[in-house]
Amino acid sequence: MDELYDFVVVGSGGGSMCAALVMRQAGKSVLILEKTGLVGGSTAKAGGVMWIPNNRFMKAEGIDDSFDKATAYLDATVGLDDDVPGATPERRRAYVREAAEMVDFLVGQGIKLGRSPYWPDYYDERPGGSEPGRTVVADLFDVNELGEWKARLRESAMPVAAPLSEMMEFPIFKRSWRSKLLMLKAGLRMAAGKLTGKEWATAGRALQGRMLQAALRAGVAFRLNAGVREVILENGAVTGVLATVDGGERRIGARLGVLLNAGGFAQNQEMRDTYIPRTRTEWTHAAEGDTGDMHREMMRIGAAMAQMDEMVGNQMTLPPGSGPNMIQPQIAKPHAFVVDQSGVRYMNECGSYMEFCKTMLARDREVPAIPSWVIVDTRYMKDYMLADTMPGTRKPRRWFDENYLRTGATIEALAEACGVDPARLKATTERFNALARAGVDEDFHRGDRAYDRFLGDRTHEPSQTLGTVEQAPFYAIPVVPGDVGTYGGVVTDAQARVLREDGSVIPGLYATGTTTASVMGRYYPGAGCSIGPSFTWGFVAARHAAGLGNQQLH
Ligand SMILES: Cc1cc2nc3c(=O)[nH]c(=O)nc-3n(C[C@H](O)[C@H](O)[C@H](O)COP(=O)(O)OP(=O)(O)OC[C@H]3O[C@@H](n4cnc5c(N)ncnc54)[C@H](O)[C@@H]3O)c2cc1C
Repeated sequence: MDELYDFVVVGSGGGSMCAALVMRQAGKSVLILEKTGLVGGSTAKAGGVMWIPNNRFMKAEGIDDSFDKATAYLDATVGLDDDVPGATPERRRAYVREAAEMVDFLVGQGIKLGRSPYWPDYYDERPGGSEPGRTVVADLFDVNELGEWKARLRESAMPVAAPLSEMMEFPIFKRSWRSKLLMLKAGLRMAAGKLTGKEWATAGRALQGRMLQAALRAGVAFRLNAGVREVILENGAVTGVLATVDGGERRIGARLGVLLNAGGFAQNQEMRDTYIPRTRTEWTHAAEGDTGDMHREMMRIGAAMAQMDEMVGNQMTLPPGSGPNMIQPQIAKPHAFVVDQSGVRYMNECGSYMEFCKTMLARDREVPAIPSWVIVDTRYMKDYMLADTMPGTRKPRRWFDENYLRTGATIEALAEACGVDPARLKATTERFNALARAGVDEDFHRGDRAYDRFLGDRTHEPSQTLGTVEQAPFYAIPVVPGDVGTYGGVVTDAQARVLREDGSVIPGLYATGTTTASVMGRYYPGAGCSIGPSFTWGFVAARHAAGLGNQQLH
């Protein structure tokens, strides 16, 4: 080996720095190798929400949850499938136990975390579902505290100085004074920051910024532009990695183990074509390093792989001149619905983004549905944002020139503009309007779940999410089954150890995050079901590798 550490982490994703802090607490040396020039992975770009059942913040606020309640919920969602080796009952239970413990550990390490006040589970009506929600987020973080490391922290997709709970209210600012005040507060916070030398990060960047600060203080070593190509196997056990560092090849030894936290394969079209056909790299929000390197390496060494056909679908629209735009909360507002290319409505437009995209992909097998059309009316355009443009504003010229935004003085004319059967779209609109007037979606149950209503407009009545589409002119934009990352990979056990195809453990090798087959199987039970597990299995892996057993670390 060219150099030797106790623990080596491949990728600076969600679980990487959490694992590293455990190792440092145990007095062990740790190196994190990151392929790109930036720390934080997709986790830093993200909302940074972690789904942590039975967490300390719920307890402090007297919100009902327990191990039994949370496991009942996972059994009633994730547990419905039996072809998901990442989500065995044993792993689900370990997750519920360890996630809360992981949060206690981070708080003990000085990471400022808290609950989002209200973020319902995505299936709150199922046994064990929580309406207030189980989300944990990082407090805003002044990235200037990182000094020269600030430039090496990945940028966020959400560059606003407001907690997510407040940001979620911004889209209804035209209709709500509270939302206007929250936007003003965020603006003032940014302005005050300029005067006092603070640069506030929120969401995933705040989380990863805080983790990076703690890791640097604890003496964790980082190497950027350092891509791992292979794991080194000796007598069936992993003893290190082979990495390309600054253009040169290095063999780096790991006495206690190697943790893979190298993300998924959302940026690899060839792998998508093989495992998640009819989806595109252009539709993902995952960071550029998400190219499946460690997936391919795990296949090479004979590790078990599973759930490779799963992604965290997230409905995107692609306005000309910009990247994929996450449009979920916009579609969920009143006066909007979605149809396939024949003009038929085919789903509840609210709810889990993963389910939305699965439904679109399934529909496309019967009727062309990629892209589908988001149909809105003039009232929608006045009140709500569309693809990040402000309500009531003129839409960019390019949207018309490049035929992205379609319009029609009548629904039939809009249908013509979209190449959809006019009579069919008219019938769909009339049916939708009748349901909206009644405030009950008998066809697809939009608005029945707490999460549907949370995404809607709380000022709108009788339904927070159903509103008629009847004020001319009418508009349509395309929507595709995009994603925020993949969800399948190497199979790990309840200690985050990588398994071979025959179920045996590969000694010295651990994995977490989207490198693995998710503990959430084929479901997204609530906000934070990617980052929560990534942190938790990183925590579990490091504790196991350091030989700490179930010792409390805080
Ligand atoms: C806009 C957006 C919002 C989201 N919001 C949320 C949310 O709020 N909650 C949630 O749970 N999920 C959310 N997601 C999904 C979530 O962010 C990702 O699924 C998750 O962050 C993946 O984390 P990870 O730990 O697996 O790896 P990542 O955070 O993606 O990190 C992997 C790292 O490994 C590096 N790497 C790759 N290959 C190598 C190699 N060969 N050698 C060395 N390094 C390598 C990559 O460059 C990358 O930095 C969101 C995603 C996006 C894009």
